[in-house]
Amino acid sequence: MSDFKIQVDELDEKAKSFRFLASESWWGAREEGSDGQATEVVSGFAFQLDVARKADDIILSGDLEAEVILECSRCARRYSHALRDPFSLALEPAKGREPTDLEGVQGLAENGVWLGEDLEAGWFRGPKIGLDDFFGEVIALAMPLQPLCSESCPGICSHCGADLAKTQCDCVDERLESPFAVLAMLKGVTEEK
Ligand SMILES: [Zn+2]
Ligand SMILES: [Zn+2]
Repeated sequence: MSDFKIQVDELDEKAKSFRFLASESWWGAREEGSDGQATEVVSGFAFQLDVARKADDIILSGDLEAEVILECSRCARRYSHALRDPFSLALEPAKGREPTDLEGVQGLAENGVWLGEDLEAGWFRGPKIGLDDFFGEVIALAMPLQPLCSESCPGICSHCGADLAKTQCDCVDERLESPFAVLAMLKGVTEEK
């Protein structure tokens, strides 16, 4: 059952604001079974959203804000990463329709909502909308595929493993191994003749 719910009959044409805070343990429970270790969450995942009823449809729009500890994909340092992502979702009444997959059918029955492929449209049914799955998808999408502690992170030396942000190592300059450097050297040799 969903932790985060919206009562459909409370909604109106005029948008209502909601704020939900999803905790580290909530996210940890969802991440279980997926690969890797649990993400360390500094502040919880704050969801701010405006929800309105437009004719039969329910329109949600809002944004996610959170601070998580991620591991830099270049230097492996753990750093604090600000997640910030806007989202919107339009739900129409499912009426007699059923999703084609079992998971979708269960979700619609249990949480009153089914999410389409692109996470921007879906169906709802019943008096309440459970937003847990939607929030989970928004967080997953906001996580960077290749986290970087900074855009200019120099990473670690591929020879000695030195952290190049902190220290300069004595390894042979790798530029000499690049094809361009080799060409430049050959050119230099021929010009000398
Ligand atoms: Zn880094
Ligand atoms: Zn080195």
